[in-house]
This record gives sequence, C-alpha cells and structure tokens, in this order.
Amino acid sequence: MAIWEYAPAPESRDLANLKPHYQPFIGGEFVDGHGEPLKTINPATGEILAEVGTADSSDVDKSVTAAGRAHLNVWGKMPGTERAKYLFRIARLIQERSRELAVLESLDNGKPIKESRDSDLPIAAAHFFYHAGWADKLEYAGFGQNPQPLGVAGQVIPWNFPLMMLAWKIAPALACGNTVVLKPAETTPLTALVFGEICQQADLPAGVVNILPGAGDVGAELVNHKGINKVAFTGSTDVGKLIQRQLAGTGKKLTLELGGKAANIVFDDAALDQAVEGIVNGIFFNQGHVCCAGSRLLVQESVADELIEKLHKRVSTLRIGDPLDKNTDVGAINSAKQLAKIEGLSEAGEAEGAQRWTSPCPLPDKGFFFAPTVFTNVQQSMRIAREEIFGPVLSVLTFRTPEEAVSKANNTPYGLSAGIWTEKGAKILWMTQQLRAGVVWANTFNRFDPTAPFGGYKESGFGREGGRTGLGAYLSV
Ligand code: NDP
Repeated sequence: MAIWEYAPAPESRDLANLKPHYQPFIGGEFVDGHGEPLKTINPATGEILAEVGTADSSDVDKSVTAAGRAHLNVWGKMPGTERAKYLFRIARLIQERSRELAVLESLDNGKPIKESRDSDLPIAAAHFFYHAGWADKLEYAGFGQNPQPLGVAGQVIPWNFPLMMLAWKIAPALACGNTVVLKPAETTPLTALVFGEICQQADLPAGVVNILPGAGDVGAELVNHKGINKVAFTGSTDVGKLIQRQLAGTGKKLTLELGGKAANIVFDDAALDQAVEGIVNGIFFNQGHVCCAGSRLLVQESVADELIEKLHKRVSTLRIGDPLDKNTDVGAINSAKQLAKIEGLSEAGEAEGAQRWTSPCPLPDKGFFFAPTVFTNVQQSMRIAREEIFGPVLSVLTFRTPEEAVSKANNTPYGLSAGIWTEKGAKILWMTQQLRAGVVWANTFNRFDPTAPFGGYKESGFGREGGRTGLGAYLSV
C-alpha cells in the first residue's frame, strides 16, 4: 500500500515580528533592566532568537512599587464595570494578534504551531473574556457582599505554556482588582513581553501589569518582596516547597500549582480506539511538558496486549519535527537541560527492567528532540512510574479490578489529574470519588476551560485557578 508523505507546510516566521532586543515592562513602559541580559533560543534549531533585558532587585522593587501605586490610586478602586472593559479589550487584542503570538510562542518554546494556534491562544483569550465577565459580579460570587482585592500579586510561571499560564494568572488577578508583577520563565520570555505591548494598546493604566524577565533569582526576589500581598506560582514541586517555606508567617496568600504523575485508566469496556486517541493526547500533547499529562497508563489486563498494539501503531504515525510546520504533531523539547532530564529518566527505566519502545520516526539533526517513547513492564517502584518526566514518555502498568486501579492511581506523591476510560457511567462516578486528583477527565483528556477550577492535591500544590473558585485566591475572603 502506498503511503503518502506530507509535504512541508511551514507557517511564516515573519509573522512573529521578532525584534533583536526586548526589555522588561515596568510601570507601563518598556525600560532597560539592570540584570544580565539573556539570549533566548529557538529549541528546534539552537539559533538565538533575541536578546532579552532582565531585572535585578532594584527593578523588582520598582515594579512592586509601581503595582502598589496603581492598585491604591486607580485599579483597586475602579468599579468592576470599568475593569471589565479593559479585560475585554485585552481579550480581543490577543485574538487580533493571535497569529503573531502563536508563531512567536512556537519559536521560543518549540511547541507545534497547531497547538499554539488552536489551543494556547484561544484558551489565553478565553481566560480574559471569562474573567471580564466576573469583574462586575464579584459580589454575587459567594465571597460576601463586598469582596476586596488583596493588593499586589507576585506571579511566577513556567516555560511549558508561557502565554496561557500568564493568562491563567493575570486575568483573575485583574478581574478582582489586584495589580500584578509577573516573572516569565527564563527560556520563554517573549510572548509575555508582547503581552506588555497589548497592555499598552488596551490603555491599561500604568503599573497595573509589570513583566520582569529573568532567572529563578528574580522569581525569588519577587515572591519575597515585602510589597507583595499574594503569590501565585506554577512550576516544580521543589521550588514550590521552597516558596512555601519562605512565605510561612508572612501573611501573604499563596497558591501553588506544581507537578503531577497522572494515571490515565483504561477499563476493558472502553472504546479502545477512542482511548488510544486520549492516551496519545494525554502524553504527547506539548511534548509531554504538561503538569497534568497522563504519564502513567493503567490498563485492565484483559485488554492490555490489544491496546498496546493499537497504541504503538498510532504513535508510529506521529510526525516529529519543525514546530512551525502545520503538520507537526510533536515539536522540540524546550531546553537542553530538559532533554537531558528526559534522557536520564528513560535510561533509568531501561536499567530498572522496563521494556522500552520508541517510535521509529526520523528526528531532525539539530535542535532538542526526543522520539515518543512507551515503556511496558513497568513496576510501581520504578523511577519512571514515580517521578515526573515532563517529556513524551509513557509508562504502562496493568490492573485487574477497579480497586487495584484506584490504589495504583493514588500511589503517588502527586494528585493533579486523572483520566478514566469506560462506557459505564456508574464506574466513572465511583472512580471519581476514589481518585485523589484535582481534575478527573472521563472519556477525554487534557480539556481546559476557564470556567473549570484547576489545581491539585498533595505535592501537586494547593489552591485552584479558573472558575468561581479561582476568584477566591485573589480576594480577601
Ligand atoms: P522551576 O520550578 O525551576 O521553574 C518555574 C518558574 O519558577 C520559572 O519561572 C523559574 O525561573 C522560577 N524559579 C526558579 N527558582 C525560583 C525560586 N527560588 N523562587 C521563585 N521562582 C523561581 O521549574 P524548571 O523550569 O526548572 O523545571 C524543572 C521541572 O519542574 C520540570 O522538569 C518539571 O518536572 C517540573 N515543572 C512542572 C511544571 C508544572 O506546570 N507543574 C512547570 C515547569 C516545570 P527560571 O525559568 O529562570 O528557572
């Protein structure tokens, strides 16, 4: 049978309007930062995209002061109906500039353009639209008659969904009347800085949003600054724990969205072809750089062989390569450091006796790439079953009864998400009650919606982002 190859279909990188130099956004203006400039690279090629000015402690101080002033004089006392107008404007501007932002995100992060275009950008805009709707209805949100903002929010985000994480953090904070100082990840600062331009276009009052590129030390300065009233952090569990220790006793409100090791559970009565699509989406979406990725597949023993065969066949069809090509399914790993972590954990999986299957797909000869990989014969004690790999690597375990599935699924320090595949509604409801996970998807996976609260149990953190519940994190309640 003849197999037709896909012709290359690259999106034009000119759409990104790349500039040679970017600056921090402080007090409504782009200004020189006093930190050591960083060079952000395209992980698909290794080429330098731009030089980015970074913040030092004096810039953190300046930003927090600007945000405090904006909160006191303008934003904190502005009626919700007026704040809503700005949020709507920002949402529309994100939509208007979505093609530019999607290309820029794929260049800086390495994710496939079809994901940045069809997932990250629409979800980022949706968060601003959704929270614009709340801005003038906070008194009906169940937090008392006159809920008040907290003040200045210090927000630190990771590199896996740069603009989307920014939206999850900034939209609820602004809707509730807080002002913001946000630090994007060191390896993906560009879309956050274009968001600064969007704030200018929307005529957002100066100081309401401040963006400080830099490394972890800038994040640490920010969360520990005395002028910060609320800290929202998404990233690794280790840094989350450190921040929690540092903030203890300070009175700052804290939400942590940390790692995960989600179980994606397939019962023998599930529609297997549909489940295969959900498994692929669960672990290979965004190269597996997803905190809620379905990185542990738990499959009922009676259908395990059939499912694995189908899975290998399906994964073999995934196209790995140029993130800007519209046909690419799996893009580049975000950094050399992350690639080394994925390689190291995969080697540990083999050394501990799991059986490795790697997609036979060709890999580009430059940049950071890792072929989709599936481990079978995985034991619960192995590192690949316990540690967050944060890459396109799936660990498969089996179970015989629903009780065994529950105990294996919950046998993890994390508790962010889980997936269930079955045609029995009663089984879904029973499982949902047993699983210690903040989000449980049934017959689907990786669905995000601004109306649905997202967050974890145990070492996956605490607090919720999104929905009515998420507003509580930004209000004095
Ligand atoms: P980090 O937790 O180090 O980074 C997350 C953000 O926190 C980044 O902006 C980072 O800055 C910043 N940061 C680092 N140190 C501090 C600090 N002491 N105080 C305040 N902010 C700080 O994650 P990594 O990027 O190093 O990724 C390591 C692992 O973490 C991954 O392999 C993955 O397993 C997990 N992870 C989980 C994520 C999730 O969504 N749950 C997201 C990202 C990572 P900088 O970018 O400069 O390091």
